[in-house]
Amino acid sequence: MLETINPASGALIRQYAEMSDREVRDVLRRVDEAYRDWRETDFTIRAARMRAAAEVLGKRSREIAELMTEEMGKPVRDALAEIEKCIWGCEYFAEHAAAMLAPETLATNARQSYWTHRPLGVVLAVMPWNFPFWQVFRFAAPSLMAGNAAVLKHASNVPGCALAVEEVFREAGFPDHLFRTLLVGSSAVPGIIQDERVRGVTVTGSLAAGKAIAEEAGRLVKKTVLELGGSDPYLVLEDADLDAAAETCAKSRLVNSGQSCIAAKRFVVTDAVHDAFVERFVEHMMRARMGDPMDEATEVGPQARVDLRDELARQVRKSVAAGARCVLGGEVPDEVGAWYPPTVLVDVGPGMPAYEEELFGPVAAVIRARDEEDAIRIANDSVYGLGAAVFTRDTERGERIARDRLEAGSCYVNAPVKSDPRLPFGGIKGSGYGRELSSLGIREFVNVKTVWVS
Ligand code: NAP
Repeated sequence: MLETINPASGALIRQYAEMSDREVRDVLRRVDEAYRDWRETDFTIRAARMRAAAEVLGKRSREIAELMTEEMGKPVRDALAEIEKCIWGCEYFAEHAAAMLAPETLATNARQSYWTHRPLGVVLAVMPWNFPFWQVFRFAAPSLMAGNAAVLKHASNVPGCALAVEEVFREAGFPDHLFRTLLVGSSAVPGIIQDERVRGVTVTGSLAAGKAIAEEAGRLVKKTVLELGGSDPYLVLEDADLDAAAETCAKSRLVNSGQSCIAAKRFVVTDAVHDAFVERFVEHMMRARMGDPMDEATEVGPQARVDLRDELARQVRKSVAAGARCVLGGEVPDEVGAWYPPTVLVDVGPGMPAYEEELFGPVAAVIRARDEEDAIRIANDSVYGLGAAVFTRDTERGERIARDRLEAGSCYVNAPVKSDPRLPFGGIKGSGYGRELSSLGIREFVNVKTVWVS
């Protein structure tokens, strides 16, 4: 049984029966059948459907946003912005997929030689709850445009969203079974991967989930893309515009109530400006309005689940016990629901959870660095490598550090890390491999087929 609980109030929303093994097999059979027709369609048809999906999202945005807020607590204004992003993603891939997947001619001694991109088949998407629509659409829009079919195993706390995504595609006129949701828990995932109709797996989630799934898929030689956790460092150098940096850093730490893979998590600040930065940063973190996520003015909602909030509180307590100083927040409010306030830890160092682990909530870890070189060393001293940002008035210096020195998939100068359909998105090290979005993302689940005609 999957159960949804409103994290703002602790109230039970709904229970959903899990699909049996047999039901899962039946869905996979239908999805595979839908794929066999879909792969023969041309880009004009696929694009028309994808644009229709964008329209459905636009028409239903308020209702869907409220569903997300109810199930996982995100402030409704963030939920509305998430739907806008999904619309952008659908329109972007509707417009560009044909060009991105056009055959590429190769100059050889053949009469004709080129490579082309053919779909792979049914792709399994294992997705997290933090952006219940965007995570799915950023995979599904390019993948369906490439001619694939998909099954979604969404996080167990957002089955309502999972079913709503399926509905959006159906309402948009996609074949009934081209995109289906499987209402199952994580223990069903190995069995789904083992099904011969499943040709690839994309995972967005924690490092632990990524490892388990990639192990199973690897054993069966099935393609995987892993979008895993992150502990993005934001470097604040001595020549940074501190007011702008503090504001951007606080916003990026609190995005989605702190529950974003590319939220700023570690703030590596050079000694010369450490105290001045912290003062400004705490000011911004303090001002963020925490409250009812259905209220449009709310900036920070509850955490998505009580167990996740408790884990965050444990990480903070352990870090403080190991020598970090909590200068803002840090106390679990005495209220029902999964609440945790914006929190700032300073004097964070090796051995503390705030230094070593991902903090998936509104908790900032500030780390003091001697100078630029030390800041780069600390930034790279992580099992993760998803995003990173540098703040400096010398943009050439910032670009050099971003381009050549930081170990991360996306490095930004004087700006927060963001995902954008036009840009490749993904990580290195424990943050995973493969890329989503852009022309690279759409090519992850295709057969790059070489054709030679003598
Ligand atoms: P999670 O616990 O790993 O869950 C993600 C998905 O994986 C859920 O559908 C979950 O199912 C499933 N899952 C978990 N363990 C599994 C296993 N052993 N085998 C098969 N499936 C398994 O992560 P989360 O708490 O939902 O999301 C937060 C994490 O996702 C953070 O680490 C965050 O940084 C990362 N994330 C990364 C990106 C990115 O693009 N790189 C984006 C967003 C989030 P159940 O819900 O049924 O357990």
